Amino acid sequence: MNENTAAADPLIAGARRDEICRIFGESYDPARWNDWRWQMRHRFIKPEQFEKLLRLTTSERRGLAMTHEKFAVAVTPHFAELIDPDDPDCPIRRQVVPREEELLVGPGDMTDPCGEDHDEVVPGLVHRYPDRVLLLALDTCAAYCRYCTRSRLVNQGELDPLPRRLDAVVAYLEAHTEVRDVLLSGGDPLLMSEDRLDEVLGRIRAIPHIEFVRLGSRVPSFLPQRITPELVAVLRKHRVWLSLHFCHAREITPDVARACDLLADGGIPLGSQTVLLKGVNDDVQTLKDLVHALLKVRVRPYYLYQCDPVVGTGHLRTSVAKGIELISGLRGHTTGYAVPTYVIDAPGGGGKVPIQAETIVSYENGQALLRNWAGRTYAYVDPAEHA
Ligand SMILES: *Cc1c(COP(=O)(O)O)cnc(C)c1O
Ligand code: SF4
Repeated sequence: MNENTAAADPLIAGARRDEICRIFGESYDPARWNDWRWQMRHRFIKPEQFEKLLRLTTSERRGLAMTHEKFAVAVTPHFAELIDPDDPDCPIRRQVVPREEELLVGPGDMTDPCGEDHDEVVPGLVHRYPDRVLLLALDTCAAYCRYCTRSRLVNQGELDPLPRRLDAVVAYLEAHTEVRDVLLSGGDPLLMSEDRLDEVLGRIRAIPHIEFVRLGSRVPSFLPQRITPELVAVLRKHRVWLSLHFCHAREITPDVARACDLLADGGIPLGSQTVLLKGVNDDVQTLKDLVHALLKVRVRPYYLYQCDPVVGTGHLRTSVAKGIELISGLRGHTTGYAVPTYVIDAPGGGGKVPIQAETIVSYENGQALLRNWAGRTYAYVDPAEHA
């Protein structure tokens, strides 16, 4: 079956949705399906639910049986509909259905590859760069990405609810006037209620030197039903930006496009982060399809991340050489608006390091020899120095 057609054709989509609802003993009802709380209550979590959803491989069956105690498994009905039930290599499936390989530990694998714990200044607040902080909003997500860089935190029950930590966070931010930028991230802040989000954003916004507030969220991909006019109103009120998370063009369904429209029409600037994943998006055409699909829904590709060396993700990672090849296949071949910055979050806490193929062939005697996107070289001559 072709998922693209399935998602676009309401009749076929309705049939698959009905199959999905029947796994939970219900029949498809559009009003319920479009209710994000219904979606959250009907997530695929148990192995026996996945047995009914997909033709599982032995590796997936073992993965489902063994990994959930290490890192939670959950898939919303919305995202489950996009999975090809017969194709174990389906790029949607690889992102959220665990495999036995998750139990393997490769050389260099870490539980906290970005060294976030080291830069934690208050519980859930990471201050690494001089002018900006990362605030972990809560420890749950709508679904769980098998490559999550924060699997040590997400769904582990160690992070207190944000309201309980908020006084300490706000006190830190008030004392640190050099911080002008707050990134609220995952777990997923858009799973908070409107009231709670309003309170949290209000407290942060009230700090005079905080100029820029962003939320990182995969909710528009996993749970577009959550993007309601009420939620958009809260985001607009606090003038936030959103960093979304998409890995494959197939995620941009009609429901997701509607959610992005609601956000963009509501005046929320939208960016997207993508993790480079083996068998999901590691070829130029797939990446191109993704970035073009994002531009169509007014989402600007922001970062393409090299997959962090999180324990148990070896089967999903690509080489750096592959990443350079892919980003070279985008840069110059399409508009700069469509080209994300390819970065490696340097293991051990070095922060994001941008990566691209060498564009300066040589730079001597005031002359820079440049290599363009098509591989040709050109000289740029510096202005003459005047005494
Ligand atoms: C990614 C990140 C940020 C934000 O970096 P930008 O380049 O501004 O998107 C801030 N703090 C930490 C710890 C991060 O990992
Ligand atoms: S949405 Fe983000 S925080 Fe949540 S599981 Fe995926 S990568 Fe991890």
